[in-house]
Amino acid sequence: MSNVFFQKKVDRRSRAAIRAFLARHFRYDTMNSWNGLTSYANNVKTHRLGLTPEQSGKADEMLETDYWDEIRDPIDDFTESQGYEYTIGTNGRSGGYLVLYQSRREKTGHLSYCPSCGQRNFKKVPPTFQDENEKVISKEILNSQGSWHPGNYLGLSSIQALAIPDDEKSKLINVLKVKLADCSETDACGVCRNSRRNYSVPTSRLMASYKSIDQGEEFFAEDWPMWQLRDRVDLVCAFDAACDEIRSNFINLLEDYDVPDGIRSKSSNVPSTLFRRVYA
Ligand SMILES: [Zn+2]
Repeated sequence: MSNVFFQKKVDRRSRAAIRAFLARHFRYDTMNSWNGLTSYANNVKTHRLGLTPEQSGKADEMLETDYWDEIRDPIDDFTESQGYEYTIGTNGRSGGYLVLYQSRREKTGHLSYCPSCGQRNFKKVPPTFQDENEKVISKEILNSQGSWHPGNYLGLSSIQALAIPDDEKSKLINVLKVKLADCSETDACGVCRNSRRNYSVPTSRLMASYKSIDQGEEFFAEDWPMWQLRDRVDLVCAFDAACDEIRSNFINLLEDYDVPDGIRSKSSNVPSTLFRRVYA
């Protein structure tokens, strides 16, 4: 079975060939039909995937199971290779279409997470201090969420009891206030109370846009210099290649899939579409 199904060869030297490829590429709604917004797409309903009759039979059975996570990897590779500016999502009833979407990465603002239950937190885990003075002062700063004027901390009995001069205490208070600015009072997870851990890199999430891509575009020379047209072809070809990889993953899964006895008749009326879940 060929791994090239959606991909097409495009003569990148020819404006006419590029225009024909882009203008005739299959398109589908980015959202709902009533929005009227469309983008480059491929039909991935199982009867449109060029499967052998045996594969088709298996495909109908396999639609009962949840295998999307096993075949969707090419989407992450594609999105990363496009600098997160484009991604691929499913759309249509039962997700029968793969659609090219514009996207961008957004910081989530989470600073720590709980390895036990996965809960994320917008505050950092406070550092641990060895020095007794730092320990006492940091505790008071965390208790008050760092909201007091530095001088007010000096009035606390716990801090008054420390055996260092006031000006040293003040210095320490100022330093620690900065250090603890984004920290929660303890390292406890708000859900399961286990210890949280700080993220080493800021977390981000991918936001997809429902904006149309090249809808009604005629690719006139004055708006589209050749380099820009070629970039567009590269993008759409990469999209088609990713769709081919997903299709190949699906077919490999089919080859490995044993149809359990007795399910065959039951699932014959399952809608014949490849994907069910929407990629978020
Ligand atoms: Zn937890």
